[in-house]
Amino acid sequence: MERFPHVPREAVLKEDLLRTGIAFDESALSDNLDGDVKPKSYFIFSFDQKPLAELGEAARRRPPEEIALTGGPYGLRRTIVSVRVNPGSPYRVDRGDDGALRLSLDDLPIASVVLPPMPEYYRHTLANGKTVMETAPTIQWGYLVYLTVLRLCQYFGAKEECGFCDINHNWRQHKREGRPYTGVKPVADVLEALALIDRYDTDRVSKAYTLTGGSVTTTVDGLAEADFYGRYAQAIEERFPGRWIGKVVAQALPRADVQRYKDYGITIYHPNYEVWDKRLFELISPGKERYVGREEWHRRILDAADVFGPRFVIPNFVAGVEMASPFGFETIDEAIASTTEGLDFFMSRGVTPRFTTWCPEPTTPLGRDNPDGAPLEYHIRLLEAYREALARHGLKPPPGYGVAGAGNAVFSVSSFMDTLDPDEVTIEEAIPS
Ligand code: SF4
Repeated sequence: MERFPHVPREAVLKEDLLRTGIAFDESALSDNLDGDVKPKSYFIFSFDQKPLAELGEAARRRPPEEIALTGGPYGLRRTIVSVRVNPGSPYRVDRGDDGALRLSLDDLPIASVVLPPMPEYYRHTLANGKTVMETAPTIQWGYLVYLTVLRLCQYFGAKEECGFCDINHNWRQHKREGRPYTGVKPVADVLEALALIDRYDTDRVSKAYTLTGGSVTTTVDGLAEADFYGRYAQAIEERFPGRWIGKVVAQALPRADVQRYKDYGITIYHPNYEVWDKRLFELISPGKERYVGREEWHRRILDAADVFGPRFVIPNFVAGVEMASPFGFETIDEAIASTTEGLDFFMSRGVTPRFTTWCPEPTTPLGRDNPDGAPLEYHIRLLEAYREALARHGLKPPPGYGVAGAGNAVFSVSSFMDTLDPDEVTIEEAIPS
């Protein structure tokens, strides 16, 4: 915080929590769906730094989905952080002598903690008994409905799966523990869960949905990728026209397929490029290289900008994996220079990437070899580089993320929104005039 005084303190702490994980005292866990705290839904990846079987009480009583930090010796403005459990972390959430929840670092209290309240829509089940939490969980303090409609990726095994991704392992571990965890979510279930959210989210906190899951290299239910994910968008938009901003995270597909997403009613497209450097992309995302190829992936991102409008194509990269051994950059300078080159490539064409802070999950090749993730300094300098790149290209925060700025941001898996000046780009503003 002292070395980077122009980066909000909230963002510095949030990055460290995301890369390190948090230990939870039993008094800070939820009572699953029976209590007053919104439990962690495991909405796509595990985002934990130990396997479920080693989480102790946190495997029986889920931790909260997110935490909100305020106050403490740094006078933090409200900061929403996604929960990544790590029983060995120096960061711990427990209760102080006064009974109030707090976050401490090596036993020194550093912030007050508020847990997310159980939303009313989680208290209702579908007619077939499935829960809303499993079918249509919400994250980002309720802003985003996260629809992982395909819990598996068809990139399979070491030669195809992305080196940081535990989607397939996470599916296996939840099944092994006997948790409900649906591989392919029926469209009717998704609609029913959304109807419950629409009915009980009376304050209209939920503003967007993301359709996602693994890559489809053949077919699922007889459908190729654009039609598989598109059928959900079509059904949602027919039933709830304009109720939420529709987003899809998928492979970079040819223009005709991307057009179908748009026609089905999707507003924002995330063809995630994961890591910029050519050598690292081939090594870290071998499935993407094999089925599409890096240059073609980038070309398709730009083609998609013609279809959706550049502000509505928001490719993600996983911040930190470019520093992971054995392949990654050895210095922070090199890693930041490489990623900045990627930011300039896209932003000079009006496309605004965003990022997720890498969580070194232990069952992935990169997490196994790098249990401490990337250096905190890298993450902080990346926030600076991102902010400078946006300014260099005259761009505002990406649309569909709520209000930017420390104290406002709800995006919980990176602090890039916490780092920007207070601003909100609405969907209407992002449409070229
Ligand atoms: S494309 Fe890569 S990151 Fe996405 S689900 Fe498949 S293996 Fe995971």
